[in-house]
Amino acid sequence: MDYSELVKVYKEIENTAKRLEKTRLIADLLEITSKEDMEHVVYLLQGTVFPPWDERKIGMSSRLIIKTLASTIGYPEQRIESLWAKSGDLGTVAEMLMKEKKQQSLVTASKLTVRKVFDNLQRLASLVGEGTVNKKVALVSELLHGAKPDEACFIVRTVIEDLRVGVGEGVLKDAITWAFLPKVKGIEYGRELKSNKVLKVNSLKDLNKLKDETVVEPSDEKLAREIYNHFASQVQEAYDLTTDFAIVAHEFKDKGYKGGFILKVGTPIKVMLFEKVSDIKEGFEVVGKPAAIEYKYDGFRIQAHFENNNLKLFTRRLEDVTKQFPDVIKLLKSHIKAKDYILDGEIIGLDPKNNQWLSFQNISQRIKRKYNIEEISKKVPVMVHFFDAIRINGQNLLNISFEERRKKMKAIISQEVNKIELAKQLITDNMKSAEVFYKESLSKGNEGIMMKNLQGIYKPGKRVGFGVKVKPVMETLDLAIVGAEWGEGKRTKWLSSFVLACIDGENFLEIGKVGTGIKEKSEGVTFEELTKLLRPFIIKDHGKEVQIKPDLVVEIEFEEIQKSPTYSSGYALRFPRVIRIRPDRNAEECSTLTQIKKFFMKQRGRKI
Ligand code: AMP
Repeated sequence: MDYSELVKVYKEIENTAKRLEKTRLIADLLEITSKEDMEHVVYLLQGTVFPPWDERKIGMSSRLIIKTLASTIGYPEQRIESLWAKSGDLGTVAEMLMKEKKQQSLVTASKLTVRKVFDNLQRLASLVGEGTVNKKVALVSELLHGAKPDEACFIVRTVIEDLRVGVGEGVLKDAITWAFLPKVKGIEYGRELKSNKVLKVNSLKDLNKLKDETVVEPSDEKLAREIYNHFASQVQEAYDLTTDFAIVAHEFKDKGYKGGFILKVGTPIKVMLFEKVSDIKEGFEVVGKPAAIEYKYDGFRIQAHFENNNLKLFTRRLEDVTKQFPDVIKLLKSHIKAKDYILDGEIIGLDPKNNQWLSFQNISQRIKRKYNIEEISKKVPVMVHFFDAIRINGQNLLNISFEERRKKMKAIISQEVNKIELAKQLITDNMKSAEVFYKESLSKGNEGIMMKNLQGIYKPGKRVGFGVKVKPVMETLDLAIVGAEWGEGKRTKWLSSFVLACIDGENFLEIGKVGTGIKEKSEGVTFEELTKLLRPFIIKDHGKEVQIKPDLVVEIEFEEIQKSPTYSSGYALRFPRVIRIRPDRNAEECSTLTQIKKFFMKQRGRKI
């Protein structure tokens, strides 16, 4: 496929705010995409060349792109920079400059294909070592040379990973449904249906009769909606299993209605999520009695995939962290006996002095670590608690009960204390025993408990009430804003990351940064509103960063307070979130350092 066809669709999507129209445009594009190009088109539509769980990044900075543009087009870097500062979008800057240049030199570009763009961008990510920068410049420059101005715009935006064309998960899912599953009469597809081969249906069951019909005609409107939802959920399920729309689109293009049930060892699956309830009583109401109650460990989730002696570890965000944990790999290989498996568990840190469990903060450094891994694994040892199984010995376990899954998992793991264990579990219908177990869990430094329905199946990516979490409620803090950063891309005009501070006597002490909980538009606290309120208090503007006189107070919710040398208060907040602005408070009335210390001590049976 020519890249220009994709660019045409990018531009059309950019020009419409209507979801229906976006879906139509993408569905049309997917329909004409060959199986060979499916991967390229689907990733590029999402502004990337990798599946979301792949750890590789295109990895080219805006600065380097400016350099590339300067050398490709032959303009000084400064001119490009000042145009960029004005528009905030390097893509449109590239387009404008290419237009200018082409008028002067009248070069006609040769046709760029989707495959060529995709290949060059993927190669960018694999470059390492000496001479990398020049090679990167050459790869992008080669594309720009062959690109028309509008194509250059989207190449640049893709390279800096800021496509600015909104193709969300929901739209892609619908577009795949529209493109490759039978159309349902009565459903709005944004255009007339071609009705060559029609199957009339009176119930969902009638779908079993589907052969090569391309249109389904339900007996009434309600059934039409049900059938459409059924098709869309098939696509969603395939996505939850693969986390990769390229595989999903390819699968349905290939197999049509019969496609979709793919569970592959080595490809991470979206993990099952748990709703929060306020107490054990509510927990029992949601998951039923008796329930399996487990410690909620405070580490990080891993999905372990094993097949053909090859073991991979993925985080909850589906990043591959195999290389960072050679100790865990060794442990799993020696303690789990199965032909293949996909298991769900939590890695937690151990204090090497006394084998006490440590909180997430202590092992977070291991996740990103790329060098001296052996050394750090000795300094920060970890252990694994497994709590669920998705596949064992070729058997897909998604649809069997939690009780059964745990049994099967137990059968293949030889447990060893403080190395590899199943999550500690209590099966009970008794409130009192549950409370005792909850307290015991907290006193061991865990976050709380999980309560699980014994009959629940594994639903990837969903919060469906098969399991809930119970953890102590943290109070909120009122903190003053003392600094901020100007945003990038769409947020160039707004302050977008805010430095928070508490007060100690007369001094404001920093305790973290927050960018979450603030909206781009409409209800709630917006970036625009915060920028307007803070602008008069800007004391110093250091380019991207600004210092702000403490005046505005915001209420902040967070998961935990941690000790931290990064901020002047000596503490940092884990997962801070803005709940609301507190116009009723002066900066001097914000939370005090003493209060924060108290909160810190109260957390999860902390002794110090
Ligand atoms: P949260 O991060 O608060 O939404 O809680 C869900 C997370 O708790 C999971 O993603 C796991 O990483 C973690 N977790 C710790 N212990 C368990 C357990 N026994 N069962 C399930 N998840 C657990």
